[in-house]
Amino acid sequence: MIFSDVTLAPADPILGLTDAFKADTRAHKVNLGVGIYKDEAGQTPVLKSVKKAEAILLETEMTKNYLGIEGVQAYNLVVQGLLFGENSHIVSEKRAATAQAPGGTGALRVAAEFLVRNTQSSTIWVSNPTWANHQNIFETAGLTVKEYRYYKAETHDMDFDAMLADLSQAQAGDVVLLHGCCHNPTGIDLSLTQWAQVAQICLDKQLLPLFDFAYQGFGAGIDEDAQGLRTVAAVVPELLIANSFSKNFGLYNERIGAVTVVAEDEKSATNSFSQIKKTIRANYSNPPAHGGLIVSTILANAELRQEWETELTEMRLRIAEMRTLFVNSLKAEGVEQDFSFISRQNGMFSFSGLDKQQVARLRDEFAIYIVGSGRISVAGLTKNNMPAVCKAIAQV
Ligand code: PLP
Repeated sequence: MIFSDVTLAPADPILGLTDAFKADTRAHKVNLGVGIYKDEAGQTPVLKSVKKAEAILLETEMTKNYLGIEGVQAYNLVVQGLLFGENSHIVSEKRAATAQAPGGTGALRVAAEFLVRNTQSSTIWVSNPTWANHQNIFETAGLTVKEYRYYKAETHDMDFDAMLADLSQAQAGDVVLLHGCCHNPTGIDLSLTQWAQVAQICLDKQLLPLFDFAYQGFGAGIDEDAQGLRTVAAVVPELLIANSFSKNFGLYNERIGAVTVVAEDEKSATNSFSQIKKTIRANYSNPPAHGGLIVSTILANAELRQEWETELTEMRLRIAEMRTLFVNSLKAEGVEQDFSFISRQNGMFSFSGLDKQQVARLRDEFAIYIVGSGRISVAGLTKNNMPAVCKAIAQV
């Protein structure tokens, strides 16, 4: 038999946790594993701006005809506006080309496969630690994955010297995966000075930055969070960007993101983009329309855009509030260890420093689910579940 030799794959470290959470019958269970925003009531509702855009689409949509390989044209232009800002030279000089993709994951996969098939770049450097799916995506596409140091456990802070030291070992043509903002899982981002240094090392050593930009607006704001990307794009001639609207538009299951290539000149951008389209055609032919139409409808309409920005700000501020409350509640529960670093981290996640055993005890004894690395999705904390979570952490 052909299939009888197929072995059982291990459960996905993050989505497998959600399956275990769903199967748990304890009423007080809390899921702080997967990176999904929850409001104060513990829900992940559809944004109001999204609902309004969908109402418009229901009225105006005339066809379900295929999109082009690159997706919704208007969408690809608004994506570039969010990435590079208005009046960007990169856009006006036509050095950037964007294709809609099924989520940030789809965009990363297309970017990786484009590199493998069309360039000499065969090695990608990812931060240690990084999002659990990066290695999986890049290796499946045929890249060799290496790690650069990023995090110092003793200080709960970044280890920038080590990062530079490791990147200085990279060879010309190697790819460097950079988290645009809200680094997953640590929540620790580079400062602008550090971004400039990374840009310089990429330029000097001819390394290709690949930005994974999944949390724009969850750190300090839409433009603020793009400063790292824009700093690097101002220095290096070529880069790739995989961005996602799963989190900042709450469009998780619509699978909406984009892959953008920035090249030295228009001709090179056009050529690269033709190969990106070839990669897409071979994978899923063309993207689903709904998510791209929602995002482009919102961003093209001043009123809806304003409403979306307000909703995004609310999400960002609620997470920031939970960070502070988390630190204070742990202290109030008598936890002696200093957790103040949690309020200095950005985005949905916090690298708590809890070890595998403590994570297992939280799950088995208290029905609190967090990823084995100790990463906590702060966006899943609410005023309601906070006391139980902090009491449990105090006990383990
Ligand atoms: N990149 C990072 C760093 C992420 O955290 C995620 C989602 O958790 C993604 C990419 C993938 O996003 P999407 O759900 O849009 O595929």
